[in-house]
Amino acid sequence: MLTDTPGLHHVTGIVGDAQEAIDFYAGVLGLRLVTQTVNYEDILQHHLYFGDAAGSPGTVLTQFPDPHADPGRIGRPQVASVSFVVPADAIEYWQARLGSRDIAVEGPLERFDERVLRFEDPVGTQLEFVAGPVVDTDDNIVPWTAGPVSEDSAVHGIHGVSLLSVNPYSTASTLETLGFEHEAEYENRIRYRASGTRATAIDILDREAPFGREGPGTLHHVAVRVDGEDDLYEWHDLFAERDYDVSRVKDRHFFHSLYVREPGGVLFELATETDGVAASGETGRPGESLYLPDRFEDDRDLIESQLPELTVPAGADRQR
Ligand code: ZN
Repeated sequence: MLTDTPGLHHVTGIVGDAQEAIDFYAGVLGLRLVTQTVNYEDILQHHLYFGDAAGSPGTVLTQFPDPHADPGRIGRPQVASVSFVVPADAIEYWQARLGSRDIAVEGPLERFDERVLRFEDPVGTQLEFVAGPVVDTDDNIVPWTAGPVSEDSAVHGIHGVSLLSVNPYSTASTLETLGFEHEAEYENRIRYRASGTRATAIDILDREAPFGREGPGTLHHVAVRVDGEDDLYEWHDLFAERDYDVSRVKDRHFFHSLYVREPGGVLFELATETDGVAASGETGRPGESLYLPDRFEDDRDLIESQLPELTVPAGADRQR
């Protein structure tokens, strides 16, 4: 029996330079670089995981740096933006912190009953900070406070994503199949909500947009949480029955998952719940060295020689 997803697992995007991404997401936003590994489909490319102290599902943004790619274009069908939860009284702090680094900030805007700051990463990825009475709070999330941002202001995981679909009705139907429920509408935004306590919001944007192009500055997919590997096989069969474009179940080392492109064109991943995606748990310094699953360990020298050396900025990972 398939159960509803409780919320998002992670969001994955494409950036340009890996060090620039670390300097921004760890050094400015104060997320923990929980794991530095390689793209398991292309081991000569980095894959960076940012999140809370443990890399808990529902807090994780991952980025594939692709320094030689042409810039992407945000458009249909894509994940258009990702939003993060910040404490209600931290909005002004973030406005000042981002502003002092010459990052253009729009807001605070009022949306539903939330306050929202909109800004971009160095390659144009659309990001938001959201605060408000109904944003998720979950005791399992342990914000990263050994970085440059104090506990009062630290990011508390993902709030949700906004989607640009080529067929909003189909995308809405897919969300309902996964267990999201229609919650509210605000201007051209239709909000769906999962039943859990972490990363539960998905907004479908009902507006015209050009066709998107994959590349730095765009978000590649959004992953939702499922209980275990068995559920993935059941979901696989359900999507296959509906003729959705669905992948086989894959071993992502930290979790198992499958990918499904729904008829609205948005790429979803279904990923199994885990305690975290930090390569060696909450201790150690997993983000500072390249982590490889056993099957790639024999090729470590070759892999490392092909990848740029990365450093975690001072203050972003300074103490346990
Ligand atoms: Zn993913």
